[in-house]
Amino acid sequence: MNYKDIIEKVYNETKEISNEGKIATYIPELANVDPTMFGVHMTNLKGEGFGIGDNLVKFSIQSIAKVLSLTLAYKIMGEKIWKRVDVEPSGTKFDSLLLLEIFNGIPRNPFVNSGAIVICDILVSHLGNAKEEFLDFVRDVSNLPNLTYSDKIADSEKAHGYRNVALCNFIKSLGNIENDPTEVLDFYFDMCSLEMNCQQLSYTFTYLANGGLKISDGSKIITKPQSKRINALMLTCGFYDESGEFAFKVGLPGKSGVGGGIVAVCPHSYTIAVWSPLLNPNGNSFKGMKFLEEFTTHSDFTIF
Ligand code: GLN
Repeated sequence: MNYKDIIEKVYNETKEISNEGKIATYIPELANVDPTMFGVHMTNLKGEGFGIGDNLVKFSIQSIAKVLSLTLAYKIMGEKIWKRVDVEPSGTKFDSLLLLEIFNGIPRNPFVNSGAIVICDILVSHLGNAKEEFLDFVRDVSNLPNLTYSDKIADSEKAHGYRNVALCNFIKSLGNIENDPTEVLDFYFDMCSLEMNCQQLSYTFTYLANGGLKISDGSKIITKPQSKRINALMLTCGFYDESGEFAFKVGLPGKSGVGGGIVAVCPHSYTIAVWSPLLNPNGNSFKGMKFLEEFTTHSDFTIF
């Protein structure tokens, strides 16, 4: 079977399974999403793609944006970045405060909230206007010149993000935040508010399947070794306390967000984005995980 047939078959099967997931409501604006949405889009390195279902409906990519902020910070700082954030799976929830004190304010990895907040702090330190320059960077990577932050989502999270405020202040007290926590958090919430559809999301991540180069013109976003390392982090840390399970069941580097999106990367081959807003207890899309498990288990579209 070719990839279109497999996507179609697995999509239709997954659509039918009963969905035990729950929508994320701790960011009130996310609760307004239609829970029945389900879209998939795959893009290969020639930029050709195939999508099905609600693949052209925009959604809040949330933590998936952490891969893009890490990419920019790594590009700017090089290997010194790993003095500020570690590269180990956390085995804890995405917004956990555990482990920070033990490790002197060094978050376990850049994809838990604490790590992503430190990455935002790095960008605030190095850029004149982190919000604007990060947006320009994502516009370039995604070939979406009109991409903007969603004020609605960002404001909703800003008004309720007590835990992230606690995380940022706690890390500041341990000495690993350089800037004013209010400024760092403001940028963090905006970063998480980006919206894309599955087609745009899978296209945006093709640089990680292509050794750090943009597929449209071959320009360098990051180096090949940096691309390798970001993929390794996605494989080991992209799904919080479910990272081992995702690697076991799906076997691809990937990243999830509480908006119900998942993007996965098959180096040298393709990227795939799945969106279904109902989440399992670990905060990852219930149907998204199921779809990707079936897709890689019953096809040759796997790295193992
Ligand atoms: N903006 C969300 C938060 O900080 C991101 C969490 C996620 O997508 N897992 O809580």
